Amino acid sequence: MDNADIDWKNLAFAYHRTHFNIRYTWRDGAWSEGILTNDETIPLHMAATCLHYGQECFEGLKVFSSQDGEALAFRMNENAHRLARSCKKILMEPPPPGLFKEAIFKVVRANADFLPPYGSGASLYVRPLVIGTGPRVGVKPAGEYLFLVFVTPVGPYFKTGFKPVPLVVEENMDRAAPLGVGDVKVGGNYAAGMKASMNARKGGYADVLFLDAKHKRYIDESGPANFFAIRDGQYITPESHSILPSITNKSLVTLASEFGLDAVRRQVEIEEIFTFQEAGCCGTAAVITPVSYIDWRDRRAIYCRGEQAGPVCTELYNRLLAIQTGDAPDTHGWVTRIPLD
Ligand SMILES: *Cc1c(COP(=O)(O)O)cnc(C)c1O
Repeated sequence: MDNADIDWKNLAFAYHRTHFNIRYTWRDGAWSEGILTNDETIPLHMAATCLHYGQECFEGLKVFSSQDGEALAFRMNENAHRLARSCKKILMEPPPPGLFKEAIFKVVRANADFLPPYGSGASLYVRPLVIGTGPRVGVKPAGEYLFLVFVTPVGPYFKTGFKPVPLVVEENMDRAAPLGVGDVKVGGNYAAGMKASMNARKGGYADVLFLDAKHKRYIDESGPANFFAIRDGQYITPESHSILPSITNKSLVTLASEFGLDAVRRQVEIEEIFTFQEAGCCGTAAVITPVSYIDWRDRRAIYCRGEQAGPVCTELYNRLLAIQTGDAPDTHGWVTRIPLD
């Protein structure tokens, strides 16, 4: 298997086989050495806690080629700490940030020829995960864990340009409970949100916008992405205990401030959608997905007509992407160079 046949510009955001993944096992109080393997399957006990009681969490980050061929990982430490936080919240053994970094370095280097070339728009998506592998029948944390990292080359999210998409407000289903696990990256949140997302897609929307589960009054986030809006020189993004703290959003808050916007995190009433000039979703996969309109009950809040994203969304998107690919200076220390040999 090699990369000779990959059409970098037409790669989907999908799994593509590479050479190796890396695995560490936690057993008897310690993490093992990392093992690089080309096996795509996991031997798993049928009573493993990840299968029954949802002991699973993951991360997602991208590695880009710079113009001079270096491998650049974006805000890797943030992912390391968030993975540890997710693990702790559902009582799994957290891989220490040093181990996380070692795993990413080794697995990226072992798959260096799958790193898409500079200028293709494609990147190497890195997917770390932790699962409870120890058997339990009673509800208790597992005694053994697997920390695995695989990579897959992914195409640019917007193949035909940076296009706005519609959202619909979901009022009949919640993604996360008010004091539940919505603030960590666990698979169960995705299972909980899938039906709402799929219904929205059937209705012609790109995804849903969830409201806070307690009051049904404030905006939480979209299925797999945070929400933000632009109004009168402000970058506004929801504050909530049940949304996942997006690293992309955190970066956009910083860039928006530099760009002269006033960046505010606060509860955002759903009624406010009618007052925004621009809106977007943000996350690693697409950086920003501009929103064309939001349907809520029988009303529609419109941000773009046609295929043109708003000027602030476009500027923020270009600035963040330029830092990720090494085209713009990394003044915040967000980029890690991964040695490839
Ligand atoms: C991963 C994720 C995001 C995006 O986070 P990034 O760090 O920007 O990739 C947003 N919402 C949810 C629910 C997520 O799981």
